[in-house]
Amino acid sequence: MPTVAGLANAPTLDSSVSAARERYIARNPASLAQHVEATAVLPGGNTRTVLFHEPFPLVMTRGEGCRLWDADGHAYVDLLGEYTAGLYGHSNPVIRRALDRALDGGWNLGAHGVAEARLARLVVNRFPSIELVRFTNSGTEANLLAIATAVASTGRSRVLVFEGGYHGGLLYFGGGGIPINAPHKFLLGRYNDSEGALALARAHADDLACILVEPMLGSGGCIPAERDFLLNLRTAADETGAVLIFDEVMTSRSSAGGQQARLGIVPDMTTLGKYIGGGMSFGAFGGRRDLMELYNPHRPGALPHAGTFNNNTLTMHAGVAGLEQLFTPEAADALFARGEGLRERLNALCAAAGLAVQWTGLGSLMTIHFQRGAIREPADLTPRSLVKELFHLDMLERGFYFARRGMAALSLEIGTTEEDAFCAAFEAWLDLRSAELSS
Ligand code: PMP
Repeated sequence: MPTVAGLANAPTLDSSVSAARERYIARNPASLAQHVEATAVLPGGNTRTVLFHEPFPLVMTRGEGCRLWDADGHAYVDLLGEYTAGLYGHSNPVIRRALDRALDGGWNLGAHGVAEARLARLVVNRFPSIELVRFTNSGTEANLLAIATAVASTGRSRVLVFEGGYHGGLLYFGGGGIPINAPHKFLLGRYNDSEGALALARAHADDLACILVEPMLGSGGCIPAERDFLLNLRTAADETGAVLIFDEVMTSRSSAGGQQARLGIVPDMTTLGKYIGGGMSFGAFGGRRDLMELYNPHRPGALPHAGTFNNNTLTMHAGVAGLEQLFTPEAADALFARGEGLRERLNALCAAAGLAVQWTGLGSLMTIHFQRGAIREPADLTPRSLVKELFHLDMLERGFYFARRGMAALSLEIGTTEEDAFCAAFEAWLDLRSAELSS
């Protein structure tokens, strides 16, 4: 039993976060200086909101394998994995050679190349739903185009999305949505709520263009969709004639054919992004032949799909090399299993500590939540931003680079050594912070 005096001396969450912030500021003067300089020309010194956190974000100056070095010379194991785009790490020689080869041929040729059809072939062969594919520069663009394809092909205007979904900078549905979302007529369902989704779809059957869903809420906290939920969305689309779109920008790494192949559910369209371009700017939308044929420029009245960098040579070459030589179907399965194993280990540590903490996710993607009980939708989440901040700052201090929101995305470069080191650090952290976690 703790004594009264012991309790009085126990660290509080507030005091521990303040102390961690002070140590962070003291440790990172060069990152702070760079941040201050950047604020003169970038709002808040930032050009990518998700990378920002208080008091200021780290500036990284170098990456190699699964390691990063910041402007003050600290080394980190990179567990963020560029929010899943960094599957191949920071310096893979296969990707490097592909980029060199692309550069040797010159860039900005303003013409068709040979690599784009090769990358398209790889994608079509892998994803069950993709008969034809088009490339874009980002996942955001891919989703905007997939929605536009559904609207154009059905002549309808409603788009069913789900609370907590993230489909890009202009398609974010956390907290119901954001003021800068694309101006579509959105219907907002609850994630993993089949009855609600079926009811919404049926109520708007005449005007429902598409259902857009992530097979796992990625940014929304690594909350996997239940198979039944996705099957019911398939039913809702079939009944109403709406286009079912799986946003596999994050979950495509679940297997060679993404989470759709793992679950055996075939949507009408799929959007991709992130690592499939070998770590370069990338997005893609693809699907049923009849839908994608709308873009066939041989056809009179074809839909136009422009984009200066859609087939940029760096992305096309790096993408081909990555899928052909590194992220083979076997490598995809192995990474999924590795991630499941790590999450189990981390959750066993949480259970042994008896604290309100757990990791949710799917394969190599996972997020920490400081609460007990099942998490099936964003409404189940308890916001504990101070604890998340403490975890983030403490882990940075111990040399593990993470998202402030507690998300990890394993790259192919993360090995047993890094996993063991992280599990040991996590176990020690649970012990060190048990008072703060209990408060
Ligand atoms: N969809 C999902 C599921 C995503 O996770 C993201 C990016 N995190 C996007 C779309 C947008 O991709 P991009 O950042 O390339 O625009």
